[in-house]
Amino acid sequence: MAKFKEREVESVQTENYEESEMGQLHSLHLSENGINNVRSKISTGPGLSHCMDCGDAIPEKRRKAVPGVKFCINCQEFNEKHNS
Ligand SMILES: [Zn+2]
Repeated sequence: MAKFKEREVESVQTENYEESEMGQLHSLHLSENGINNVRSKISTGPGLSHCMDCGDAIPEKRRKAVPGVKFCINCQEFNEKHNS
């Protein structure tokens, strides 16, 4: 029973993590000032299979969650911190 619960928590955390990434994009879309920002950062298209920065493979899940993604999650976070 306890083991089942642990697994459940793990999967919920993973989902929340991805949802928060999507949530960020959605809230940017909602703000009028954010629209241009989002468009310049995210082009439409299938995205890249490998990070433009470090060359790491970008998981398919992430490419689906972030259309036109060009960086792995590490580089994306790094870029966002340094661009803001
Ligand atoms: Zn990278």
